[in-house]
This record gives sequence, structure tokens and C-alpha cells, in this order.
Amino acid sequence: MTATQTDLETTIRETRHYLHQYPELSDHEVQTTAYLTKRLVALGYRIITPAGLRTGVIAEIGHGQPVVGLRSDIDALPIKEATGLTFSSENDGVMHACGHDFHMAALLGAAELLAGEAASLNGTIRLVFQPAEETHVGAQEVRDAGGVEGLDAIIGFHNKPDLPAGTIGLLPGGLMAAVDEFKVTFTGVGTHAAMPQFGRDPIIALTHTVNALQTIVSRNEDPQQTAVISVTHIEGGNTWNVIPGSSWFEGTVRTFDHQARAVAKQRFTEVINGQAATFGVQAEINWQTGPDVVDNNPELEAVVEAESREHFDVVAPQPSNAGEDFAFFSQRIPSVFAFIGSHGNSDWHHADLRLDDAGLLPAAKWYYYNAKALLTYLSTK
Ligand SMILES: [Zn+2]
Ligand SMILES: [Zn+2]
Repeated sequence: MTATQTDLETTIRETRHYLHQYPELSDHEVQTTAYLTKRLVALGYRIITPAGLRTGVIAEIGHGQPVVGLRSDIDALPIKEATGLTFSSENDGVMHACGHDFHMAALLGAAELLAGEAASLNGTIRLVFQPAEETHVGAQEVRDAGGVEGLDAIIGFHNKPDLPAGTIGLLPGGLMAAVDEFKVTFTGVGTHAAMPQFGRDPIIALTHTVNALQTIVSRNEDPQQTAVISVTHIEGGNTWNVIPGSSWFEGTVRTFDHQARAVAKQRFTEVINGQAATFGVQAEINWQTGPDVVDNNPELEAVVEAESREHFDVVAPQPSNAGEDFAFFSQRIPSVFAFIGSHGNSDWHHADLRLDDAGLLPAAKWYYYNAKALLTYLSTK
């Protein structure tokens, strides 16, 4: 490794450790935004963050068409860190437990590499440091503010703790799942536990329903498609001798295909209403549509995969049933999303998650090489 590379790797690692110490929650990334802006100004970037974007940074380098976006998310989670790292969170109860510090540091590293070649770029590189990924609203905030107007393509990555550091995971099509969230309330008639005939028991309705929902994946979805329905939280009643008047449960649906997603929602509604009728209770369904599938554009994925194979180990990863707000971009702009190995000791959103810094320089270079490859590809198309 050359001296310059060692310097860059050190800078990226120190950047990540600094950001890790000062995590901020979704849509409250004020210090993070100030820090990123300062670093990008020093590198010679034009800051073009729209006035309507309260947190997050948009910056450009180079000139003219095409315009290629490089995206990193910047927010952290309401988790109390338990890694024991020397650079642990200084913001009590907030932690970069998804590795967005890793993403930001890598993109700043790429920004430095690209700044050194600003005059010879075949177009414009736009850095999109997006707020509020964890709450799945940040990508839309960026778009509503005008931050992705004029982009010809956009790429991004998520660190992947179960891949070796620096290994790239790429495939055409669906990489991360569509996410839906539900909450169902059954309202019956409360009564004495010993006199059920005078009530309408919402606990019985709930328990039958939770079981019945498990038949949607096994009996209604195409077995060739991936679908998950998980009920994760149930509540009803507060003592041993009273049948309560209501009960509720919540959970999530994950799919990779529009048809599978539609089937899940339709059958969910039918099962709930059917069970409510069976047990004589009222059902109220609250359905929240979350991020769509992160869907890699096959043409651009081929360009990115070929370029990535020149420099890195590339594998076809198992798609993840987790969701990713990048989907909001991928449904509107030709895009490619990758996994990059971060060799962690546990998984995303765990209080003890420690990532391997050895994945940082490859991640920075992945952005850098592919930014240039896409500018070349798009300008000769
Ligand atoms: Zn996350
Ligand atoms: Zn994340």
C-alpha cells in the first residue's frame, strides 16, 4: 500500500470513529450535518443542500452531464451502546448501531479521491448524505426538497456484518425487501371472567387471528416468492379475572414482489375481518406502507458489477428481508445498491455491534471506481 493510501485509510478510520462518538437520531442530525458540510467545503465541493432540507447535505463536484449520485445515510438509533469500544457513543442512549457512520466515512473518503480528479471527471458527481433512513422518511425529504433532481443514476451501499471486510455483494433486481407495518385492534365487550356469555372476548379473537395469519404465506402466496408475516407485539387485558373490552397486536410484512405484497395485504384484511365476524368483535386495521423493494437496475448493475470485479471480491448475496429507504430512490432513478462486508460480531441494530474498519477503504474505493465508471458509461451511451 502506498503512503497516500495509508494516509487516506487513516483519515477514513478516524472520521468513522469521530462520527461514531456523536450519533444523532433521525431528522435531528444537526452536528453531523455541520461536520459533513465543513469537511466537503474543505475538499472543494459545491454545497447545494436545498433550503427545504433541515438535515443532510447535498454537494457536487465536476461539471455538466451526466450526473451520478452517491448516497450515504447519516442517522443513528435509540439504542444504548454496549460495545466497550474506546470511541463509544458520547450521546447516551443513541448509537450508530446500523453502521451509518461507516457509510458516511466511506463516502467522505470517496469524496477526497474524487476531489483529486475534479478537473478530469466526465460529468458531475453529486454526494447525497441523506437524513432519517431509519424512520424511512429521509429519501422522500431529500426528493421533496429537490435534492435528486437531474440525477441520471444513483448508487449506495449498506455495510453487511456477515460478509468478510471489503467483500462486495451485488445482484440485479431485488436486494432488500418491501416493508409494511400493521396494527390491529379488536373491540369486543368486557365481562367477568367467570361469565363469558355476557361478553365478546377480544382475546380469543386475537389468538385465533394470529394463528390464522400464518396461513397467508403458506397457503396464499406463491411458494416461489419470498414473504414474511410476523406478529411481534400483542396486548389485551390487565388482570386474571376480567375479560377485557379490547385487545391489539402489531407486526410487519416483508416481500420482494409487487404481486406478493398485494396478496399479503388483501388476504390480511380478509382474515382479520373474517375472524372479527366469527368472534363477534369489531376490527380496526391500521396499515402503514413502508419502503418498497430496493430494486437494482439490471443494466447499471452489470456496469457496476463488472467494475467492482476489477478491484474487489464480488459475491451474489442472499437478499435481505430488512428494508432500506434507498428504495424510494431506486423506484424513481436508475440505481444500484450493494452490500459491502463489514465483518461484524453481531447484526444490524444490536447494542454490541462492532464493525471491522478494514472494510472502510474498499467501501470508499467502491464509490470512487463506480462513480467514474458510471460517468463514463452514461456519457458514451
Ligand atoms: Zn438500520
Ligand atoms: Zn442502516
